[in-house]
Amino acid sequence: MSANSPAAQLQIVCPVCTRHCRLKEGDIGFCCARQAKNGEVISISYNRITAFALDPIEKKPLSFFRPGEKILSVGSFGCNMNCYFCQNYDIARAKPDSIPTRYIAPIELVGLALSMKDEGNCGIAFTYNEPLVSYEYVRDTAEIAREQGLETVVVTNGQLTTRFLEELLPLITAWNIDLKAFSEQAYRRLGGDLETTKETIRRAAAHAHVEVTTLVVPGLSDDSKEMEAEAKFLASIDPQLPLHLTRYFPRYRSTEKATDIALLHELRDIASQHLDRVILGNV
Ligand code: SF4
Repeated sequence: MSANSPAAQLQIVCPVCTRHCRLKEGDIGFCCARQAKNGEVISISYNRITAFALDPIEKKPLSFFRPGEKILSVGSFGCNMNCYFCQNYDIARAKPDSIPTRYIAPIELVGLALSMKDEGNCGIAFTYNEPLVSYEYVRDTAEIAREQGLETVVVTNGQLTTRFLEELLPLITAWNIDLKAFSEQAYRRLGGDLETTKETIRRAAAHAHVEVTTLVVPGLSDDSKEMEAEAKFLASIDPQLPLHLTRYFPRYRSTEKATDIALLHELRDIASQHLDRVILGNV
């Protein structure tokens, strides 16, 4: 298709996340992981792995799922949000051609995960960048992994549209979902949508093990009233749902000092009035 042909000028709307990027032929979406090609928006990070490690499962963080075991953790590149404090910005905000990647097909990744069983590996975790901007890779790998009896874990910001989330739900055995803050205003600042993440948590919790993480960032997600509202919301799904409150350290474009530890304890006490399992992280 020539760049000047009428078809090339048409805009295609990406259906995968709530950003709904409008792309012309050849354009790359906000996440840098999808591109308009031949009239559809395809994943350009499929098979491309930037980070690979056999991690303790507690590092995801998952504290109540296969405790003491390890999980083969993989990341690619790209993200659909724009958090100024991103802890993994080197891969999350990377351009497709600016980052070295190793090509690993789903079947090969499952083979690697199986070969690590003797080292205590229980499955595969899709993590580090936002894995669901390339949900096809997660879906295809998880399908094979489930057949082989492996656990499948997704660590995500939850900004996936319902249609694609529903496709993944039967394939994923545990989720850690970032609830970045509990106000629409904060979510707008980060380029996301609070209601979408809440809906992802609700739906995932109906199918699989779910833990939620809130990175407590000064001035964004450290308000006590919002923490109370967040805890009440999570308790309305299940008071046993684990909430990780993790300490923020300045990264990427953020300049605020690390979260005050006394404040973290205060927020944990507030959340603990509604939830049975509130865990502090990075302290
Ligand atoms: S997945 Fe990427 S290309 Fe698609 S709407 Fe979201 S940010 Fe845009």
